[in-house]
Amino acid sequence: MKLAKLLLSLLMGGLLSTSVHAAKRPNILFIFTDDHCQQAISAYGSKRIHTPHLDRLADEGMKFRKCYVSNSICGPSRAVIQTGKYSHLNGFVRNGNYFNGNQQTFPKLLQKAGYQTAVVGKWHLGSTPQGYDYYDVLKGQGPYYNPPMITAGPDGKPVTKPHTGYTTHIITDKALAWLKEERSDEKPFMLMYQHKAPHRNWQPGPKYLTMYDDVTIPEPDTLFDDYSGRSKAPTYQKMEIANHLNDRDLKFVTPNNLTPEQKAKWDAAYNPKNAEFKAANLKGKDLVKWKYQRYVKDYLRCVKAVDDDIGRVLDYLDESGLAENTVVIYASDQGWYLGEHGWFDKRWMYEESLLTPLLVRWPGKVKAGSVNDDIVSNLDFAQTFLGIAGASLPSDMQGRSLVPLLQGNTPKDWRKSFYYHYYEGLRGGHSVPRHYGVTTGRYKLIDFYEVGTVELFDLQFDPEELKSQHSNPKYAKIRKQLQDELARLRKLYQVPDEDPAGVRKPKQPRTKKNRKKKA
Ligand code: CA
Repeated sequence: MKLAKLLLSLLMGGLLSTSVHAAKRPNILFIFTDDHCQQAISAYGSKRIHTPHLDRLADEGMKFRKCYVSNSICGPSRAVIQTGKYSHLNGFVRNGNYFNGNQQTFPKLLQKAGYQTAVVGKWHLGSTPQGYDYYDVLKGQGPYYNPPMITAGPDGKPVTKPHTGYTTHIITDKALAWLKEERSDEKPFMLMYQHKAPHRNWQPGPKYLTMYDDVTIPEPDTLFDDYSGRSKAPTYQKMEIANHLNDRDLKFVTPNNLTPEQKAKWDAAYNPKNAEFKAANLKGKDLVKWKYQRYVKDYLRCVKAVDDDIGRVLDYLDESGLAENTVVIYASDQGWYLGEHGWFDKRWMYEESLLTPLLVRWPGKVKAGSVNDDIVSNLDFAQTFLGIAGASLPSDMQGRSLVPLLQGNTPKDWRKSFYYHYYEGLRGGHSVPRHYGVTTGRYKLIDFYEVGTVELFDLQFDPEELKSQHSNPKYAKIRKQLQDELARLRKLYQVPDEDPAGVRKPKQPRTKKNRKKKA
């Protein structure tokens, strides 16, 4: 009897997997970068760089122009993507927090739905990845060259392994190796292929160390912004190209972890440029303009290597026949300032850092070359992955699946406004005051509660957010509507009155071994 039951269950299992296989659920390739803004993608109209492979995704898929992040900073954005929940609920509110991997995440749910899951590259959530059949991730932030990476050892415990080379290429090689050699053909896959680039401090790879040397990159109109039309909030920051780039950012110091061969190439590229800069003895605006060129060129050089490598991966999808049934998604953890308002970095609810790129190619489902202007968010990614897989969507996730939008059918009740909340504050990196706010795409209200000031922008007439209308009587009605909407969204998303501290890294239990290690 037992044997009969076993045979029956094996048969049913076989049938189930056959039927699942026959349904050919799509694979998901999530390509993710760190700090890559729309302004540095030619498909989004960038005049500063040509990104043919990203443009290919836009040409063959859908470009979202209003993808907002809920908290514009690295770790928190990643935690939002894992959980489909705002920072105050997933416990990762600021960099330095620790991701509680025991909670519900979309890769765990995809595994339950019969997907194989993998993450390669930047992870940056502190805890060991959970919900992945395979992981090979950078240790912490990870360097641009020669990165140590963490993967599961033979006993399942994490082990750190050294690597030699440029990190962007190493991550791509690993993603390709997993697709070619490790992946099983029996199940659909979800691969998170996640770059460190183009995060600070923008170290180009060997191929692009001198690219752009003979060109001048266009400056943004607001490079010399004096913040005069706004509240006092922007005056607290420390992210000005003029004043806050350090010697490492500006490449006056050679990175200290290069091999002799890498160092020789690096010095051959930067030493003559640095000598020329020193001799010029620039001052005032000329100096700022020089710093802008140095900074933005290095940033774009890092992006260029990412774009090349995305091309390698897209080529492999074509060659292997995987392209047809693989949804390719491109996004970054948030946007970034390429000199707008005189800045580098992110954090603000202003457009450049609130927006992030989102490109989706899904052959047969997404119309090639389509553009979407609905308000979407990294909060929606988890449910979108589950929606693509045909898995059930948990009711406690706070985003919404983008699958109908991808098919050109935006639901009538799609969101018309979006809630944002940044927690690090004046004591955090770059001294940006804590703030929350609401945007409708046209109007935006930002409450900088840490410094007691509020701003209101009308993006139709002021797309660069140079003039706050908060105390303009003409906007009194709009202001009231935005205040009401903000209150409604805070209630809807269960935002606590007091900012949460976030989850801290658990203390290791005091064992003999630990004590020895410490000593
Ligand atoms: Ca980031």
